[in-house]
Amino acid sequence: MIAQTKPPALAGARGRGTSKKHNWHAQHSTIPPIEKLLPRLEQAKKTGADRWIAQCPAHDDKRPSLSVRELPDGTLLVKCWSGCGGADIVGAAGLRLHDLFPRSRENRRPLRPSERWIPREALSGVAFEALVVAVAGEQLLAGTPLTRDALDRVAQAVGRLRAAASEVGCG
Ligand SMILES: [Zn+2]
Repeated sequence: MIAQTKPPALAGARGRGTSKKHNWHAQHSTIPPIEKLLPRLEQAKKTGADRWIAQCPAHDDKRPSLSVRELPDGTLLVKCWSGCGGADIVGAAGLRLHDLFPRSRENRRPLRPSERWIPREALSGVAFEALVVAVAGEQLLAGTPLTRDALDRVAQAVGRLRAAASEVGCG
């Protein structure tokens, strides 16, 4: 017996309703995080569609050991293979941690109704990120400062939670 595989039905037609889309960027001049960070890095080189390497500004970097990744919402993840913390890296580049996150939510195209459906995996992803923030919060409430690694992870969780919130139209 031959099993016939069909592609899953796509809700809504892509490419429709573009009449107002072309000028959304022009209305908001917010600079994407990647365009803020890259010009401040030495020897920045693109290594993939959403990846770059550069010299880490936070330590005496002989060879590029900083990897930068851009998430679909524009949030940047930075990782120094010598172990510098995210806050130190962006600080040495003259930026602050919040510069790694897209500033203006109005920058995003409007959601289509089909995108508001939340699959279970997405929910559990959000729950996990919320847990990361919750654990960090509990630690802070107990008076224990967060390590740099923990701060980096919290920053990543915050970015993901904000992206999730804006995906469903809140925040
Ligand atoms: Zn470094």
